[in-house]
This record gives sequence, structure tokens and C-alpha cells, in this order.
Amino acid sequence: MTRVLVVEDQPRVASFLKQGLEAAGYTTEIAGEGKTAIDLASTGDYDLMLLDIGLPDMDGFQVLADVRTVNTDIKVIVLTARGEVASRVRGLDLGADDYLPKPFDFDELLARMRAQLRARRQPAASLLAAGDLELDLKERRARRGESAVDLTSREFALLEFLLRHAGQVVSRAQLLNGVWGYDYDPRSNVVDVYVGYLRTKLDRLGEPSVIETVRGGGYRLVAGSKPGASLSRPPSGSGA
Ligand code: CA
Repeated sequence: MTRVLVVEDQPRVASFLKQGLEAAGYTTEIAGEGKTAIDLASTGDYDLMLLDIGLPDMDGFQVLADVRTVNTDIKVIVLTARGEVASRVRGLDLGADDYLPKPFDFDELLARMRAQLRARRQPAASLLAAGDLELDLKERRARRGESAVDLTSREFALLEFLLRHAGQVVSRAQLLNGVWGYDYDPRSNVVDVYVGYLRTKLDRLGEPSVIETVRGGGYRLVAGSKPGASLSRPPSGSGA
């Protein structure tokens, strides 16, 4: 079941969209305000968001920016009367996946939604892997090479987040937002503590850690250190 969040303050437009989307088989929820949209998107219950830029309580671009800090997974199609190139570029910069100027053809909207949802299914496959690290999202199981690794649900969520951003630097703030929820105290060292737990469970003696600390930045998953890779630094997380 695909769930769509319609962020639109005009009741007529919102109910037109809802009717059309439900006729097309989508489960649809309407948010008439930016704040509500962010709250709903942060639940992770929605696959796709249709976002109107002109909202009563806040700018749709701000909504988009806030949603991206709590949910990198949801597909976002911006619907707006502001058809200018500038807002299009801005929307895509802020993490919109697509952009459709109003008025639009409903069939075109459905086609664009299908394209985004197809694209979403690839990274949302039940198996995430990087190097010899594997996460089975359906079975909630983790492996490194031949060994199963027993993770708590929080460790699992943290590793999932890192795997989805494998090779990229992820800041502590992003990890706090993505794994613990955006209202978590940002002064907390909980991220570092849990990265330590993961290293203890995943790292191999004499090899660099699969989770690299990036000075001043955050962390980067560099999983899949090949056997025999040269040691540039001592292994982290071994309690030393
Ligand atoms: Ca509006």
C-alpha cells in the first residue's frame, strides 16, 4: 500500500487531489499546514509527498528543508503556481525529487508519481549492502562477511542510516535526526556512544574501522575493507 501525503492549504484542491489519488489506489492524507506536514512526514509512514509551496503558516521550501532533515527517504514532488526557473532550481536543491507547475494534468501527476515510486523501490530493497556488510531489512538481520552480527534495534537503525549514505560524510546532527528523532538533545553524545557499539560488533582486529570518524564532520561508512588492505591507522572502537 502506497501512502501519499498531500500538503495543500486550499480545501478544494486538496480534496480534488485526495479523490483522484484514492481512485488511483493510493492511501492519502491531507496536511493543510507546513507544521502538520513535517510532523506527519517525520513518522516515516509516507512514501511520497505532494507539496504546495504557498502555505499559510510557513514557506513550502522551509517545509521541504525541514522534512529532509527528518526523513531522507520520502519522495517529494513540489506542486506550485510559481513556475519560475528560480523556484524550480531552489526546490530541487533543497531535496525535491520532482517539480510540477500548476495547473497540471492529473495523468501527468500520476505518471511522475509512479516514476518517483519506482526509483524509491531500488534503495528501499530489503537488502542493503556495502562491501562485506549486509543488512536484511525484512528479517532485521545483519552480517559481516560470513558472520551474523547481533544488533539492538537502535544499532540496527544507525547502521541502516549509515549504509543508506555509504561513502558519504554524515554529521552527528543528521544521525540524531535520522535515527533518534529531530527533537533529541543535540548536545548528547549518544551518536558517538552508538557508533562505538557498532564498531565493537562489526570491526575486525587489525583492520580499519568500517565507520570512519571525519574530523569536524561526523562519520562515514567505509565498509567492505578488503582483506589485506593497508593499515593507515589503528583500529577504532576496540576500547583503546
Ligand atoms: Ca497554497
